[in-house]
Amino acid sequence: MLLTLASRKQRWTSPFKQLLLNSYIFNHFYSTTSNDITESQPSQSTPPPIQVLLTESTGRGVFATRKIGSGELIHTAQPFVCHPYFSSLHTVCYFCLKKLANGDNSGVNFCGDSCRKQAMGFCEVENQADWSAFDTHCRTRGLKYPLLVRRLACMVLSGVASSNSLDILQPAILSPQMIALMEEEFGLLRCALLDADLTGEKMAFLTKQWYIGVLARIRINAFRIELVGGSYEDLLLSASSSVNAEAAVGSAIYMLPSFYNHDCDPNVHILWIENVNARVKALRDIEEGEELRICYIDASMNYKARQTLLSEGFGFQCHCLRCLSYD
Ligand SMILES: [Zn+2]
Ligand SMILES: [Zn+2]
Repeated sequence: MLLTLASRKQRWTSPFKQLLLNSYIFNHFYSTTSNDITESQPSQSTPPPIQVLLTESTGRGVFATRKIGSGELIHTAQPFVCHPYFSSLHTVCYFCLKKLANGDNSGVNFCGDSCRKQAMGFCEVENQADWSAFDTHCRTRGLKYPLLVRRLACMVLSGVASSNSLDILQPAILSPQMIALMEEEFGLLRCALLDADLTGEKMAFLTKQWYIGVLARIRINAFRIELVGGSYEDLLLSASSSVNAEAAVGSAIYMLPSFYNHDCDPNVHILWIENVNARVKALRDIEEGEELRICYIDASMNYKARQTLLSEGFGFQCHCLRCLSYD
């Protein structure tokens, strides 16, 4: 997801960088590809039929490297960082956001040993601090993105992520008012972590600038995770971009899925079946070389509502074919 044409063009202008970007993304952030949408464990060896390119008109975007059939699973993606909403804290896995069979109200839980093990690093750091002031601040204001920043900070402190991991994503442009609010959150985060048993050297990355830079990227790149559940057969029946989903359970940041540009009549759709692992699926036949686009918002909204939301939420005016016809 991207911000303005001007800011997009300032980045990734050299073909060399472009090449690096593709190999970086494909080595780190795509999982699989498959022609068979019913296959649950597709081969890990085939790269997905897409590439990230820079164009004059739209900046960075994702393009098909071959013809892609309607309904094809183009690739899957694991999040870089995710977090359940407060409302789902006790009912979904703290690591993968899968619905728990026996959710209770006594702290966070995991769907299995694998998730528990993968979360061990950041949980160890998190458990050393007292988060009551930070949580109360976020809860009372309905803030969800600071939870992602906290998790990232704990991942960095536990050594499983580097502090500049999200730098590749576009940041939102922030108003002075937004920055003032973020400074307050940062103070609470830093206070909580200062009480933990961590060395000053480890904490050095945790500056106000770091916090604001990460949050600015999360603001326009976070995906709302709505688990559709059910079976693939149900999903194959629903060709629209707004599958009937249960309420959102959390938010997540991905790398490759963040490079898809927006279209109010998208040819690609991202969905979540049972957990936070995203599936990117073709909504119709796509030609080789064609750009793949997702819809950042609810595509069923009218022209005016879409333009307002895209402008206020993502900082751009949409000039897609549907918008050009005021549909
Ligand atoms: Zn899990
Ligand atoms: Zn549009």
